[in-house]
Amino acid sequence: ILILGIESSCDETAASVVKNGRTVMSNVISSQIDIHTLYGGVVPEIASRKHVERINQVIGQALKDAGVTLSEIDAVSVTYGPGLVGALLVGVGAAKAIAYAAGKPLVGVHHIEGHIAANYLEHPDLEPPFLCLVVSGGHTHLVRVLEYGKFEIIGYTHDDAAGEAFDKVARAIGLGYPGGPKIDKLAAKEGNPYAIEFPRAKIDGCEFDFSFSGVKSAVLNYLNGCEMKGIEVNRADVAASFQQAVVDVLVGRAVGAAKKLGEKRIAVAGGVASNSALRAAMKQACDEAGLGLCYPSPIYCTDNAAMIASQGYYEYMAGTRHGLDLNAVPNLKIGQR
Ligand code: ATP
Ligand code: MG
Ligand code: FE
Repeated sequence: ILILGIESSCDETAASVVKNGRTVMSNVISSQIDIHTLYGGVVPEIASRKHVERINQVIGQALKDAGVTLSEIDAVSVTYGPGLVGALLVGVGAAKAIAYAAGKPLVGVHHIEGHIAANYLEHPDLEPPFLCLVVSGGHTHLVRVLEYGKFEIIGYTHDDAAGEAFDKVARAIGLGYPGGPKIDKLAAKEGNPYAIEFPRAKIDGCEFDFSFSGVKSAVLNYLNGCEMKGIEVNRADVAASFQQAVVDVLVGRAVGAAKKLGEKRIAVAGGVASNSALRAAMKQACDEAGLGLCYPSPIYCTDNAAMIASQGYYEYMAGTRHGLDLNAVPNLKIGQR
């Protein structure tokens, strides 16, 4: 079974062909990062327009790279939420047009369920049930993946997402957008993760929930304090200490939940899953606890369409079909059908 996946929820225009949910035949990603960097973040109106300019070429290239024609595709899967509405609409519109013109089934996919499915692409033995730590630009969730299309959220962030906190702190120390990879690099190169003590927030009564606005504010206060006292800031130490605080919380919650719920394996998903400190700390904690661990290669951690085609395959096999009235749903919930 060949699925064409299409993704346009934020600032990547992407298309991919995946075989049987697991084998990537092509993976084309046209990133708009260069443009949005000028504004310090994603500008929704610009994102939509760039998607319109690029989507047909990206889809054509994905088919070409895979060496298939549209007629050989079994279904078209597309991200229909959550994300920027104008951006989502471009992918949804393109997918509907192709599905209609080629007479193929249309399967709408949840973007975050796609991030989770990215783990299937390189781990042939990974099958539900497993616990997934989702850490992306807009989401931080602990999710039990009960079946390919069945999810139970056991923890979530009460304020900022992990990736969002990385991006905001990066901006505050002048690293630019997107900040996650830059903090990772600077911290690894010359930062001391224990130079500054930033808070590791807990939420009363919600053992598996997260809060990252406190650590972000603590970094901003620290920077202000240094400025007032005329102390020079060691940016690498700030980056490493902030990163360590976030990583400690993520690892503690994920491993704690797995132990408590009797899960055997943890998958990590979303852009922050490529963070080197998170990977190292997860590895150590999972080894100690006797838990299996997996995460996607960096190219499948951030937005891509192979993950959408993978989740699309399992939806397709379960009988999910969307009509040509499929619409973008900017606040689509995980597991919502
Ligand atoms: P969502 O998936 O929640 O809608 P998104 O699609 O914008 O949001 P992703 O593409 O999953 O998010 O990931 C982008 C985020 O990942 C950004 O916040 C970026 O800073 C962060 N990120 C990417 N690489 C790293 C890294 N090495 N370390 C930390 N954060 C990282
Ligand atoms: Mg992006
Ligand atoms: Fe994403």
